[in-house]
Amino acid sequence: MAGLLVRDCDVLQFNNGQPEFLIHHNIRVEENRIEAIYPTGEWQSNPDIKVIDAGGMLAVPGMINTHAHVPMVLFRGVAEDVPLEEWFNDYIFPMESNLTPEDVYWGAMLGIAEMIEAGITCVADHYFFMDSVAEAIQKSGIRGDLAWAVFEHEGLEKLDETTAFITRWQGQANDRIRTWLGPHSPYLCGPEFLKTCAQKAVELDVGIHLHVSETKEQVALSRQKYGMTPIRLLEETGILERPTILAHCLFPEEEDLVLLRNHPAGIGHAPKTYMRAGLELGSLQPYLDNQIPIGLASDGAASNSTLDLYEQMRLMGLTQKIVEGDARSMPLDDILRIAFLGGANVCRHSELGNLKPGNLADIVLIRQDRASQIPRLNIAANLVYASSATDVDTVICDGQILLQGRQHLTLNKDQIKQEVEGRLEKLVTRVPGRKVAVYPT
Ligand SMILES: [Zn+2]
Repeated sequence: MAGLLVRDCDVLQFNNGQPEFLIHHNIRVEENRIEAIYPTGEWQSNPDIKVIDAGGMLAVPGMINTHAHVPMVLFRGVAEDVPLEEWFNDYIFPMESNLTPEDVYWGAMLGIAEMIEAGITCVADHYFFMDSVAEAIQKSGIRGDLAWAVFEHEGLEKLDETTAFITRWQGQANDRIRTWLGPHSPYLCGPEFLKTCAQKAVELDVGIHLHVSETKEQVALSRQKYGMTPIRLLEETGILERPTILAHCLFPEEEDLVLLRNHPAGIGHAPKTYMRAGLELGSLQPYLDNQIPIGLASDGAASNSTLDLYEQMRLMGLTQKIVEGDARSMPLDDILRIAFLGGANVCRHSELGNLKPGNLADIVLIRQDRASQIPRLNIAANLVYASSATDVDTVICDGQILLQGRQHLTLNKDQIKQEVEGRLEKLVTRVPGRKVAVYPT
């Protein structure tokens, strides 16, 4: 791989967690790492170095999507304006019973194309037929933290299938692929099953990615059934001993915060999903106060419509101000920390989330020339509240250019579109009595 020079951009960099903007800088990439970041100077052309002229653009770290079901882009728009229970039981769980590994592959390819266009270079995905997702990750050039979702009713044999996936793919694609165990949630996996998952995760030395506490009803149901909060249940079953990605994890009680603070847990936050489902919004302040990592998440496009973390970033800022009733809540620095560093912390990627020498070269260039981005009195405010995913121009992951001038270099979008559209009729058919699981009420 030849060297790469990203020339004359501004750079978002975190120093001791504090976001700063370096103006007119070069980023020098060697192999898959950032070698140096330094003020733009004279440049003498060197045939061994590929140059990207990034004048007028802002370089930010590739975003990390901490909780997604990427292939669900296949179901974008099929279940609108329905409450959560109906969404699961009448639409999504029946339709998911139609999926084949090929469907999942093309769904993953479409979702990855969308994420690359939105400046996302790493995704913690939680779905079925994960070999297909791993293949799509491998081909596309982004990173995946992949978990094969499993329900208790599928049995231990299925769990073994998902653990075989873990060993097959751990560290593949130049370590762009990492694997996690993926029990669905404490509401669809009971204590004994969760205990077995925790033991398997110890044996395999992997983390666990699952849904927890999406609604207040789920917390109440857990208290009624097990006499404890879902988070306490995760602690009692040994799940919290492992690194965990906790999708949603809203409404923590005081004792939950103590548990999360004392374990390697991180939260995936997806405000657009909560708003669309008409769910109550929880405050993130308790997590910030307890230094529990939070990252942005898209969840699936069937509940979210897009896999766009710039939108989630903006919505997180706006909703938290409303929840707290205070314009001072969730200031820009906190938003940027969560959006970039937070995702890396949640997914346990110490070499991502910050553009600094030695880190992996996951770099996104954002155009700054739209009328709404002028003037540049406050670059942070422009980035959070006046930019969008469509301003992403160039995406580099692991030192490889995946998107330039918004053109894909690793994916054929026309072919992906054709493959996806050819599968839709079969996928949205609902066969009475057939579904992958039942959402409890
Ligand atoms: Zn989810």
